[in-house]
Amino acid sequence: MAETLGMNITQSKEPLPAGVTLPIYMDNHATTPLDPRVLEAMMPYLTGIFGNAASRNHSFGWEAERATDKAREQVAKIIGASAKEIIFTSGATESNNLAIKGIAEMYRERGNHIITQVTEHKAVLDTCKKLEKQGYRVTYLPVQADGLIDIEDLKRAMDDQTILVSIMYANNEIGVVQPIREIGKLCHEKGVLFHTDAVQAVGKIPVNVIDDNIDVLSLSGHKIYGPKGVGALYVRRRNPRVQIAEQINGGGHERGMRSGTLNVPGIVGLGAAVEICQNEMAAEAVREVELRDYLRAKLEAALDYTQVNGNMDHHLPGNLNISFIYVEGESLLMGINDIAVSSGSACTSATLEPSYVLKSLGLGDDVAHSSIRFGIGRFNTKEEVDYVADKIISVVQHLRELSPLYEMVKEGIDLTKIEWAAH
Ligand SMILES: *Cc1c(COP(=O)(O)O)cnc(C)c1O
Repeated sequence: MAETLGMNITQSKEPLPAGVTLPIYMDNHATTPLDPRVLEAMMPYLTGIFGNAASRNHSFGWEAERATDKAREQVAKIIGASAKEIIFTSGATESNNLAIKGIAEMYRERGNHIITQVTEHKAVLDTCKKLEKQGYRVTYLPVQADGLIDIEDLKRAMDDQTILVSIMYANNEIGVVQPIREIGKLCHEKGVLFHTDAVQAVGKIPVNVIDDNIDVLSLSGHKIYGPKGVGALYVRRRNPRVQIAEQINGGGHERGMRSGTLNVPGIVGLGAAVEICQNEMAAEAVREVELRDYLRAKLEAALDYTQVNGNMDHHLPGNLNISFIYVEGESLLMGINDIAVSSGSACTSATLEPSYVLKSLGLGDDVAHSSIRFGIGRFNTKEEVDYVADKIISVVQHLRELSPLYEMVKEGIDLTKIEWAAH
């Protein structure tokens, strides 16, 4: 929406700094560009090696199966699983659906209660809502002002009907990393299965399904420089052996849990993408933390009334979510239309709704709307961060010059004491 509105804003005629081309992509939680090395790994499977991995009686099929076996190993390795525990899917939306619906269906005799939390991705929340309509009970845990759940809330929510806890590893808007190991430990003590949507965590921070006591885990290719439309679900095979009722029928692929001809090029790409992450994660996390902290320091040095959202001690490397108070969110986005970032608003139908994630931290609608999510990724440079920071600073300053509210605050007027005329 903002893009079209902002189209006719004239770009500055000043020459760009070296190493910067516009538009700048800094929205790497929404999706990531394909790493050229991943494309290279995929190419043969988009051309000559086109076999069906389920064809058991000729070399075309064997070659395709070999390729998907290798990818299964690669995906398993980055989360400390074994290859047999990996189910390929069309992405994390499907993985989350399969995990939650598949467990709900399979363990219905044991209980009908599921626990999740309010800042989950819609792929989890909408799935849980659907199950509520089918007679399941769902508890949506609140989060604290820093975005983390309180383990005590989780303990209190568990009862003898609880069959599943689904809590995301890291949040896609505010970047907070939940206390996954503690949650998993608690679940295992109580004999409750633990699923985590780890889309934003795998490949960015260390994830280990054994150490973290995870039973079922969702991940996605396109958030880690792999292709879109491919993902995986980890399903634990021992201690405990997790059973999942298939949600797509036909042919019994993927150990009967997910039928359908395998997306061989996509799966090869997913495997290549996770292997690159695994090799480069440690150094890349340091680099992204540096860029993020640099961006934050630069913004905070130049602008007052900013607020960082989400606990920064338990945080993804490349994420910064910051509110520019007394700035109108839509105007801010229009002013920076050569930079791709996300705002604290979600376009639902024709209206701009404040982000439910930011609202669940206790932010008012205005502050939520004035928030920007920066997603720094593998291909962002220091020069780009400088350009983005300078641009944001100048647009925020400009908008605040026009803002009567900001003017009043600067003059020391307490806005909470003002009686606004009704209109
Ligand atoms: C992107 C995302 C998803 C959805 O993944 P797709 O592969 O696009 O379906 C789910 N959960 C989180 C946290 C995400 O960031």
